[in-house]
Amino acid sequence: MKLLWLLILTCGAAGGWWALGAFESDPPLIQTLPTLKYVGDDYMHEFTVIDEGRGVETLRVWVESGGEPVELLSTRYDGTWHSGAELTIPRRVQVTLDLDATPIEDGRATLIAEATDFSFRRNRARVEVPLVLDTRAPRVNVLTGLTYVRRGGTELVVYELDEPSEKHGVQVGDLFFPGFLHPENPKQFLAFYAIPHDSAKDVRPAVIALDRANNETSVPLSISIIESRPTSDQIQLSEGFMRGKIAELVGGDPEDVLSAYLEINRGMRAENAEKIRQICSESSDDRLWTGPFLQMPESKVGAGFAEARTYLFEGREVDRQTHLGYDLASTARAEIPAANDGVVVFADDLGIYGRTVLIDHGLSLFSLYGHLSELSVERGLAVAKGQPLGRSGTTGLAGGDHLHFGILVGGTFVDPLEWFDGKWIREHLEAKLTRESATPDLETPAATPDVPASPDAEES
Ligand SMILES: [Zn+2]
Repeated sequence: MKLLWLLILTCGAAGGWWALGAFESDPPLIQTLPTLKYVGDDYMHEFTVIDEGRGVETLRVWVESGGEPVELLSTRYDGTWHSGAELTIPRRVQVTLDLDATPIEDGRATLIAEATDFSFRRNRARVEVPLVLDTRAPRVNVLTGLTYVRRGGTELVVYELDEPSEKHGVQVGDLFFPGFLHPENPKQFLAFYAIPHDSAKDVRPAVIALDRANNETSVPLSISIIESRPTSDQIQLSEGFMRGKIAELVGGDPEDVLSAYLEINRGMRAENAEKIRQICSESSDDRLWTGPFLQMPESKVGAGFAEARTYLFEGREVDRQTHLGYDLASTARAEIPAANDGVVVFADDLGIYGRTVLIDHGLSLFSLYGHLSELSVERGLAVAKGQPLGRSGTTGLAGGDHLHFGILVGGTFVDPLEWFDGKWIREHLEAKLTRESATPDLETPAATPDVPASPDAEES
């Protein structure tokens, strides 16, 4: 039988064709991303290996780092010397490097994959992936001590990191406030963060740092939250007002005026908040502002931050919302100045806020100007404190002519009152923003800044 086999082999055309195939010289192909990887505790790497000739016979994957190689995979696929692999499909292979379970030290290493095929030549392919093994989380050294923060207010933390971090900043519940390189000390970092008006009573902000290998550190901050009772107001909705705003903001004249209005007050409000958060997700790395923020000149406060609003129609409650800015009014079509230096990042219609300007002041701090009747700036323009942005008006959900002024930190609305207050800025921020080497400090509780308030509520 064997003799017959050999006979067929050596003398037929079929034999020649077989021999050509059996001695093919194309090596297997190993596909992977061979770029430098930072590798933490459990690292998964994926390869695809294929050989279109006789098929893949073996695949071996290991790590070299100076010492003994550590094997991660060694496979021999099904097939025979005379007919090649049973399957010549691409084979997807995942290997996991569990650094806890291997004797490899942190540092540089190479992940190597080698494949051979079923050709008589045993063609070989090799791929090397450079790795930096890093199982240690970044060390965070918080340089600011016990801090008093008002609910709805802003704080600033300064910290050091002992290794480059992909992501660092302050986590407050679900919200992340990005950190920046300290503008005056390149060895330090800082992050503005907010205690959102609606955060849990026992919310605990923490500085987090995530290195390139995904090792994470979280250092809780010692803060004391100063609670204050939010103000409240009732807003009487009239059919005429709602019809006018529906026509302005979505168009049309619906039969069910109340439902259409509530869709704006809830749905559009939420959409606008998301859009604002997205605009504020990128901020200048430089501090662009100085000193207290300018309040609209000769203005009266119509409604304050975090005011709880109940909406009434024909004597019954139809909705509740929280007012996340300051309503300021003077004369109609009053000139609206930029509250501080910065760059205009939005100047357009923005749903319930009407014609709106958003200014980036750097380091994740933004100001918002809503309900304007007229805009005199464009996106991308650098503005100075006091420079006119446009004129006040009634666009969006405004009943009377006024400015809706907002301050945002990392996309979260905070109480603007603190930012109007030079003393608060000096005591809470200036030292941390300018000092050469920080030492833990003890602050005194902030007194409530003094801004006159009048009770005539505006809608927005
Ligand atoms: Zn408002």
